[in-house]
Amino acid sequence: NKIPIGSPVRTQAIVNRYFVKAKKNLGQNFLVDMDAIMGIVHAADVEPGDQIIEIGPGIGSLTEQLLLAGGKVFAYEVDDSLPEILKNELPAKIDGEDLDQRFKIMLKDVLKADFETDLSGFFDLSKPVKVVANLPYYITTPIIFALAESGLNFTSLTLMMQKEVAERLEADPGSKEFGPLTIAVKTQLEVKLALNVNHNSFMPKPKVDSSVVVLIPLKDKPKIANRKHFNWVVKMCFSQRRKTLNNNLKTLIPDADKRAELIASLGVKPTVRPEDLTIEQFIQIAKTVPEK
Ligand code: SAM
Repeated sequence: NKIPIGSPVRTQAIVNRYFVKAKKNLGQNFLVDMDAIMGIVHAADVEPGDQIIEIGPGIGSLTEQLLLAGGKVFAYEVDDSLPEILKNELPAKIDGEDLDQRFKIMLKDVLKADFETDLSGFFDLSKPVKVVANLPYYITTPIIFALAESGLNFTSLTLMMQKEVAERLEADPGSKEFGPLTIAVKTQLEVKLALNVNHNSFMPKPKVDSSVVVLIPLKDKPKIANRKHFNWVVKMCFSQRRKTLNNNLKTLIPDADKRAELIASLGVKPTVRPEDLTIEQFIQIAKTVPEK
């Protein structure tokens, strides 16, 4: 029956009590906006019994609402001053259960996670998990790729990130945000923008605005035999965004006739720019380019 951690007064009280100083190098910007927090919980569609991995619980503003919505939360955190705060400030009992039955924190860089080992004993790994996080922005894309490639059985990743990165993930061909990041993600995950969050919703306030994105594993993933090769080819195609595809392909396919043949087979004009191609067309290009 205390007021929520994510309300500005309660956050301020916690900050005063434990002398919390937000660590910039760890991307610590705490959410102090209950509408934004509930927006994330809603976007993640949290239901009682859900097994949730949270990355970076901070002082627990989102964690608390994930627990109250019925979730069981396993959190990765690197700041060793936070577990004590979380144990004291999160509700001692949730739905009649003790906090430690519903919440576990591991002091570990999420990029070094070994999900199967870390989660075993706390989660039932025969069932899927959800990932929900207000991410540390300095490692947004490595985290997304680590999760996508981890083999973790997840139904969704609901992630708050810098708005600009969210726009790149969501972009469609033809837009200036469409690029290698879009393609690397959209060949594995469906991308849905859930909500935008103003920078005033954080403490301390970051310079940039944020967005919450929901990423869901694609049911029919396009077949990409060698992802490293594919990502490299895409990157090369975008190496000079303002130049034509033909120009960007010169290092990959030095022979002009072979390049012309490939471009014709894609059904596009030689003057096409990389951002105007579809993901399927990039897959076709990668098949034609010899592997390194
Ligand atoms: N969830 C809290 C909130 O919404 O107020 C805090 C979010 S804050 C943007 C990011 C959190 O990620 C911080 O608590 C930070 O210490 C933690 N963090 C930073 N690097 C991390 C890493 N490599 N692995 C796990 N957590 C990390």
